[in-house]
Amino acid sequence: MDGTFNENDLSRIVEADRAHIWHHLIQHKPFETNDPRIIVEGKGMRVWDQKGKEHLDAVSGGVWTVNVGYGRESICKAVYDQLMKLCYFAQSAGSIPGSIFAKKLISKMPGMSRVYYTNSGSEANEKAFKMVRQIAHKRYGGRKTKILYRDRDYHGSTLAAMSAGGQDERNMQYGPFAPDFVRVPHCMEYRKHELDGAPDANFGEWAADQIEAVILREGPDTVGALCLEPVTAGGGVIEAPEGYWQRVQEICTKYDILLHIDEVVCGVGRTGTEWFGYQHYGIRPDFVTMAKGVASGYAAIACMVTTEEVFAMFKDDADDPMNYFRDISTFGGCTAGPAAAIENLRIIENENLLANCTGMGARLDANLRALMDKHKVIGDVRGKGLFQGAELVLDRDSKEPVPEKQAQAVVADCMAQGVIIGVTNRSVPGRNNTLCFSPALIASPDDIDQITDAVDGALGRVFG
Ligand code: PMP
Repeated sequence: MDGTFNENDLSRIVEADRAHIWHHLIQHKPFETNDPRIIVEGKGMRVWDQKGKEHLDAVSGGVWTVNVGYGRESICKAVYDQLMKLCYFAQSAGSIPGSIFAKKLISKMPGMSRVYYTNSGSEANEKAFKMVRQIAHKRYGGRKTKILYRDRDYHGSTLAAMSAGGQDERNMQYGPFAPDFVRVPHCMEYRKHELDGAPDANFGEWAADQIEAVILREGPDTVGALCLEPVTAGGGVIEAPEGYWQRVQEICTKYDILLHIDEVVCGVGRTGTEWFGYQHYGIRPDFVTMAKGVASGYAAIACMVTTEEVFAMFKDDADDPMNYFRDISTFGGCTAGPAAAIENLRIIENENLLANCTGMGARLDANLRALMDKHKVIGDVRGKGLFQGAELVLDRDSKEPVPEKQAQAVVADCMAQGVIIGVTNRSVPGRNNTLCFSPALIASPDDIDQITDAVDGALGRVFG
């Protein structure tokens, strides 16, 4: 056997997977007796596995990515045409799709001005972190190097991005981490009882004030940036409460701290109505990073977007040989990314998907809330647009989380019914107890109902 086989020879593909693939984020022992799952095909909201089983994908490719759905011929064609014309050139030169996409993107982001292309969300975040550090050296004599990040937020899998990781469960075995990343408390209303001194009223402002307390403790002249998710994703689908963002903006302005918003999940329509999560809250970020929905997974592309003010710091004083951003991302120069991203944006506009996301998000929210009446195990429903979570608890008063195994059993039951949902809340080991839903923005009312019907059945079977 020379290892070659036909793509239709699925049993040999499974064999090759079992022998050679190291899957992301899972334990492989079960594959000694069970087949790994291979997703073979996708169309619209649905995917098919190697056994030919159809699944309604309620998590957009597993990790909230395929925002415009599978099998979009126009995106594939745009990518093909571009690759035939020019597949790649390093980003020290420009490209036609790179310029066109940047212009379109910036038109959706008032106040922002410059796009730095990379190929993953982690990398986009690291670019912003590096810029903050360089600004600290250029402007503040090596001070203001500290980057604040929030408990429960996630910014990526590379070591510096993990240094800004607020999910202990993911970080536990990978330290030591980079210095000068400092944690601030979370702003999760549902679990505010876990925070010392959290008030009953005005929790949003109080939670933001905790950030100020950290800044004062560390020394405002040492803090360069604050990095936050607009709606925390993997940490439990958490929207900040009323009053939070306004205070965050005031605090950043007061202490001359750059505001970095990580839109890797929320960006490009996921939260409905607005293009970006932060645009719901009237804030003015200095950095916005994005990845997943930028080209809906049709090509690898991520962007670090910043203001002209930040850009100018790296441009002025051209005689100083150190005065530019000394950084490169090889595959940030692939042209397939922006070619796919241009068409992805066009689809969202032409098919009015921001509005569909808002409408279907409201339906998903309403369906999940209706399930709360029937299933006491649902303690909280929260989210924005087509980005919703349902937290499972053993008891609504104590809010004790259900064991992770039970939450996983709900996911497995939905899978058996042909609906792929997720589970998250990565904060404390054993506490992945929030079912999560992020279907493509093209979801129909029937799709939404099929998702929540599956959850209804699964909760009945797992919890009785
Ligand atoms: N930020 C957030 C909020 C994310 O959810 C993720 C990925 N799940 C990342 C950053 C990292 O993106 P990537 O996996 O593309 O590096």
